Amino acid sequence: MTLLPIHLLGSPVLRERAREVPEVTHQVRHLVDDLFHTMRTDGGVGLAANQVGVAERVAVVDTGNDPLILINPVILERSGSQVDEEGCLSIPEVFADVERAQHVLIETTTLDGARTRVEADGFRARAIQHEIDHLDGILFLDRLSPLKRRMLTRKWQKMRAGSVGYTREVVPKGG
Ligand code: ZN
Repeated sequence: MTLLPIHLLGSPVLRERAREVPEVTHQVRHLVDDLFHTMRTDGGVGLAANQVGVAERVAVVDTGNDPLILINPVILERSGSQVDEEGCLSIPEVFADVERAQHVLIETTTLDGARTRVEADGFRARAIQHEIDHLDGILFLDRLSPLKRRMLTRKWQKMRAGSVGYTREVVPKGG
């Protein structure tokens, strides 16, 4: 497995609508492994292929006990609402309260290539919605009020002052 560099806010691939995966190939299975490895090493609960520079509809989620692979995921139903703090590995150190559906029913493709349905609530549902947004080129900042978005964008620009490029290497912590 490979630790992949993570693309940061400002990298154009984060704004692309990722393309459908026509078939679950060896390359897709590799990508899923690398996404899990990179996400866990970086302490995240979800990671989309856009975030590692690959504009394909593949993402992973693991909110603690039930790893979920998303390949060509589609949200079939959403209900209820929840507001909680959200962050993103592509926008480190920026957090904000985001409203999401409390419950989602999705359809996704498994590594065997079969379509399957998954239901999720609460934090897991939030992570799934965040990752599917990534595949559509949407970031959590887009879900905020214009005022809040401007404030956080300025904060981000200040923190980034002097930085070069729009990727960062993932480094194992405590290693
Ligand atoms: Zn994110």
